[in-house]
Amino acid sequence: MAYRLVVHPELCHGCGNCVVACPVNASKSTEVAGGKGPQEDVGLSIIVEDGVVRINQLKECKNCATCIKACPVGAIGLEEV
Ligand code: SF4
Ligand code: SF4
Repeated sequence: MAYRLVVHPELCHGCGNCVVACPVNASKSTEVAGGKGPQEDVGLSIIVEDGVVRINQLKECKNCATCIKACPVGAIGLEEV
């Protein structure tokens, strides 16, 4: 069974937990690895833009669910494809 990441911006309050929790993001950005927001688009998987979560690029997403566990409001999930 295959899954893909989905986000629900209407539930998101923009805390950024998911962005810094994502191991793929951390591997691409030293800012994110240090717990901050990214300064530029370096192909992060999941980002916060205009105060809400957005999927940016999922090419390297591992479907590890770390971002899902980091979200306090259930604004990220995996759906079957
Ligand atoms: S599922 Fe894992 S790799 Fe994909 S965006 Fe979430 S934390 Fe990153
Ligand atoms: S999706 Fe969840 S963890 Fe990510 S910024 Fe929104 S509220 Fe925070």
